[in-house]
Amino acid sequence: MLNNLADIEQEITSCPVGNKEELEAYRLKYLSRNGLLTSLFEDLKGVSREEKPAAGKKLNEIKRMAEAKFNTAKAELEDKDTGSADMDLTIPGRSFSVGREHILSQTLAEMVKIFREIGFKVTDGPELEEEFYNFDALNTPAHHPARDMQDTFYVQDKNDRDKKYVLRTHTSPVQIRTMLKNKPPLRIVSPGKVFRNETVTYKNYFMFQQIEGLYVDKNVSMRDLKGVLDYFFRKFYGEKTVTRFIPSFFPFTEPSGQVDVSCFICGGKGCKTCKETGWLEIGGCGMVDPNVFRSVNIDPEEYTGYAFGMGIERLAMMKYGIKDIRTFYQNDVRFLDQF
Ligand SMILES: [Zn+2]
Repeated sequence: MLNNLADIEQEITSCPVGNKEELEAYRLKYLSRNGLLTSLFEDLKGVSREEKPAAGKKLNEIKRMAEAKFNTAKAELEDKDTGSADMDLTIPGRSFSVGREHILSQTLAEMVKIFREIGFKVTDGPELEEEFYNFDALNTPAHHPARDMQDTFYVQDKNDRDKKYVLRTHTSPVQIRTMLKNKPPLRIVSPGKVFRNETVTYKNYFMFQQIEGLYVDKNVSMRDLKGVLDYFFRKFYGEKTVTRFIPSFFPFTEPSGQVDVSCFICGGKGCKTCKETGWLEIGGCGMVDPNVFRSVNIDPEEYTGYAFGMGIERLAMMKYGIKDIRTFYQNDVRFLDQF
């Protein structure tokens, strides 16, 4: 029987199964209940004791091989089927999701590119900060309301009860770190996440991203500040954009200003987005306070500088007409896919 089985194995191996008809003929001939393999298992009963174990083993091998051949051929034919004449052309195609850069990363990259082109270097620093860098060095003394627990997330040092850290409330500590390590002239932008203990609403989130700029040199004036922001917003929101400054207050700049840009939706005529004013409030800026320079050992008699800061979410919301800040962080692909 063993010799016979070798022939049958050969025959099964070379049996064509290239289309549905051949495959069905193959199945009927070898694998069906009345097929060859079933009858061979019947024959096994009459085989001599000596030959039986080897023949049984061989027959089982052939059966497994024959079934595997059938399954492979069947799967291949089903795959090919999609190309056959009875294909339904009206079935919508399967779409694949393509990942892309988050809209905030895109916005930030665009902003950084503009600043780089005019000589700003990108710097960063830790998100968990010491109070000195986040407040003291920025002319924000211990009693200042900005240090209130209601606005700031404090983190207690596990090993030293007297030591506490803050989740930075702005990226300005990066400026302090940079000024402590480097001598002017300095021209940097520092983008990054900042944290405020705020109630989450459509326009406030407990974490957001900022980009801040700093320029320190001899004879830096407000005019330089206005020039650089004018340039930036024309590049970012379009050539017709106009920038204006309104007096404001920050502890770390003197004088301080609020930066507005002309509404790029209505061109300054007044619309819903700009609340009919023709202007959009964008961020803060000012000339670096001499006290800040003193805390980083830069002589305010010799050097002056400007600083500015803006929220990346806010700029992106206005640029792309996004109404709710929370959508940036919900990771809903339907939202993210639009950009
Ligand atoms: Zn408008």
